[in-house]
Amino acid sequence: MITPWGFEDFDAHEDLHFVCDEECGLQAIIAVHSTHLGPAAGGCRFWHYDDPAEALTDVLRLSRGMSYKNAMAGLPLGGGKSVILANEESRKDPGLLHAFGRAVGNLGGRYITAEDVGMSVADMIEIRRHTPFVAGLPIEGRGVGGDPSPHTALGVFLGINAAVRHALGRDSVDGLHIAIQGAGHVATGVALHASAAGARLSIADVDEERANKLASGVNGKVVSPDEILGLESDVLSPNALGAILDDRTIPALEAAVVAGGANNQLATPEDGIRLQERGILYAPDYVINAGGIINVCTEYLRDGDASLVRRRIEGIPGRLEQIWAESAETGRDPQAVADATAQRLIGRG
Ligand code: NAD
Repeated sequence: MITPWGFEDFDAHEDLHFVCDEECGLQAIIAVHSTHLGPAAGGCRFWHYDDPAEALTDVLRLSRGMSYKNAMAGLPLGGGKSVILANEESRKDPGLLHAFGRAVGNLGGRYITAEDVGMSVADMIEIRRHTPFVAGLPIEGRGVGGDPSPHTALGVFLGINAAVRHALGRDSVDGLHIAIQGAGHVATGVALHASAAGARLSIADVDEERANKLASGVNGKVVSPDEILGLESDVLSPNALGAILDDRTIPALEAAVVAGGANNQLATPEDGIRLQERGILYAPDYVINAGGIINVCTEYLRDGDASLVRRRIEGIPGRLEQIWAESAETGRDPQAVADATAQRLIGRG
């Protein structure tokens, strides 16, 4: 692994672009981890970081995750990601989005952007004015496109079903208790599917209003963000931000399964082993949350319709089963198995 300046998260990224536009206040980082399988694809996050170094770590980890995610989903795409640093100088207005679009365009198609936390379909329309290398645009005609999160949520829900089958021998989530961290786009979709299938839900979000709104729509219970990880449940479904599973939170978990859509849930690779040692089944995040990028890829390449997207998303449970089977066979934790498989697929194994 190439680690310039001892910076482990760099992990042999092909290139890294720091973007600055003083006129509109844009500060962004675009990370291209791998183009081995195709152009590097991954969303753009608009987020406030207390320290810019956190933004760099975030984009590098997310970008590598996209390489692994796209490879594991069998897509002809490499992995990349971008972050726009939200601060007082950078309002998310059209000028800022256009400047970001120009920066993506300057890479000539090495990086394809889409939505991530803090971005919307409307934002993608603005970015599209300055670059063709963008997906997550409104659906036209009988095509595919739009907000990727319902597709992510469907994949997560199917993955949760596979996990409860594997860990608990249950055919469905009917009657099971699912603790959902987050009440945003992905969490909402997961909650709607799970509630329709008869699950009992507990929901937490730092935005109390969002948590209340979602809970009232799915007959769920609101719990505080501090409680959700340690709640006694069958499934913990993290659908907020990353690095929430670590040496402090894992010993306190009271769930049989961890399966959710948030990217980079494990703070370190050792946390995958910690979960395994506790007998908690983990669904590697970039495998279970690939539904959105499957939709984005089908939109961008125009190689299929909504039913093909659905069939591709229905492949997620099978991939998880393969990982858990190899984990049981080799004794390695599921995240380590997934990482090794993905690295082989992108030519770095
Ligand atoms: P979102 O912004 O709509 O929702 C995130 C929610 O998490 C917000 O409501 C926020 O208030 C809440 N939150 C933040 N910190 C929290 C905490 N400590 N405790 C509880 N709630 C907290 O984002 P989203 O699109 O739903 O994405 C959620 C996660 O899924 C992210 O990690 C994202 O990278 C990942 N993901 C999203 C997609 C997608 O299609 N949107 C695809 C793959 C992965």
